[in-house]
Amino acid sequence: MEIKKEFPIFDDENLHYLDTAATSQKPQVVLDSIERYYKNYNGNPGRGSYKLVMDSTRIFEDSRKTVQRFLNAKEKEEIIFTKSTTESINLLAYSFGLEFINEGDEIILGITNHHANIVPWQMVAKKKKAKIKYIYLHENGQFDLDDFKYKISRRTKLVAFSAVSNVTGVVHPIDEVVEIAHNNGAYVLVDAAQALLHFPIDVLKSNIDFLAFSGHKLFAPMGIGILYGKRQLLEKMPPFLFGGDMIEFVTEQNSTFAPIPNKFEGGTQNVEGAYGLSEAINYLNGIGYDQINKIEHDLEMKALFELRNLGFVTTYHTENVERVGVIAFNVNGVHSHDVAFILDYYGVGVRSGHHCAQPLMNYLEIPSCCRASFGVYNDAGDVEKLIEGLRKVKEVFKL
Ligand code: PMP
Repeated sequence: MEIKKEFPIFDDENLHYLDTAATSQKPQVVLDSIERYYKNYNGNPGRGSYKLVMDSTRIFEDSRKTVQRFLNAKEKEEIIFTKSTTESINLLAYSFGLEFINEGDEIILGITNHHANIVPWQMVAKKKKAKIKYIYLHENGQFDLDDFKYKISRRTKLVAFSAVSNVTGVVHPIDEVVEIAHNNGAYVLVDAAQALLHFPIDVLKSNIDFLAFSGHKLFAPMGIGILYGKRQLLEKMPPFLFGGDMIEFVTEQNSTFAPIPNKFEGGTQNVEGAYGLSEAINYLNGIGYDQINKIEHDLEMKALFELRNLGFVTTYHTENVERVGVIAFNVNGVHSHDVAFILDYYGVGVRSGHHCAQPLMNYLEIPSCCRASFGVYNDAGDVEKLIEGLRKVKEVFKL
C-alpha cells in the first residue's frame, strides 16, 4: 500500500504537510494500538494484582523492551519513560546536573542545540556557578571538532548536543564527540529528537551515557518520551519527580526509593503512549531506514532544486555534509511567518520563526526562517504545492 494511505490525516488530499521535524503524523496502526489499549487492557500498572493491572503492566514493560532493543541498550531498566525530550533533559538537569555539576565546572553545548537542551543547563549553571561553553560550526554546518577539542578540559562535566540540528538538518558526529568527551572525563547527553526517524543510534556501540528523544517525532503519540542512561549513572542519580510508585518504603518523615527505572517514574504513567511508541517503532522497522531515507532525500533534492530556481528564495542548505530531509529558507524581504501564512492557503504546513534555537539563529545571523521537513509519507505533489505557494508569496508581496 502507498505509505501516505497508511496515515488517516492524509485522507484530506489538500493537506501538504512539510513539518515532520516539528511532529510526525501517525499511522493507522499506532492509532489502533491506542484504542486497543483502552478497549481491552486499561489498568494502572504496578498498582494491584488483578487482570487489567497485570495486562497494563505487561504492556508497559514490553514497550520498554521494544525501546531497549531499538536503542540497543544493555538492560531494559536503563530506559526511563518521560513525557518528552524536554522532560528527559529536565530530569537529567535536576537530578544529574544539580547533584554532580559543581562550582567551576563546565558544560559544553552544541550551538545547534534546541532550547530544550540549553535552558535546563543554564538553570544548572546559574544554581551551581558552573560555566557554559558552545561548540561552533564549520562553514558546512558541521561541528568544528577542533573548536570542541580546544574548549574541553578536565573541568568539563557534561557535553550535551543534538545528533541532528532541527534547523539545518545537519547530522553531527556522535562517535567522535563521545570519544573526545570521554578522553576528558566528561559525560555525554545525545539529544536524538531529530535523529531516530532517520537513522538508528546504538547506545552501546557509541558508548553514549545519556540519550533523550520524543515519541511524537517518530510516528508515536504526543506525551511519551525516553531518557536512556547507563545503569551505573542512573543508580547514582537522585529522583526527579517524587510520589507514588517511585518509592520502596515511606514512613511519616522519610522515604527510600525504588530501583531504576521506577525511581524516575513517579505517578501514573502514560501506558497508551508507551504502547503507541512500541507500535511506532515496529512500524518504522517495517518500512526500514533505507526506504525512509531514499524517499526523504529524493524529495529534499527536488525541493532544493526548485527553490533555488525560483530566484527570490534564499536556502540555508550546506553541501558536502551528512544531513536529513530538512530545508531552511527565506523568501527574500518577507518575514517567515508571512510566508508560512500564505503557504497555509495552499494546504502547505511549514514551520516558521526561530525554531526554538535562538543561539543558533544569532550565530548564523538569520533572524527567522521557514523550514520544510520531509517525511516518508510526502510525495512530489507536496513539493509542487510548496513551490506554487511560494510563487503566490512573490505575487502578494510584489517581489
Ligand atoms: N530537541 C530537538 C533537536 C528538537 O527538535 C525538539 C523538538 N522540536 C526538542 C528537543 C524538544 O522536543 P519536545 O518538544 O518533544 O520535548
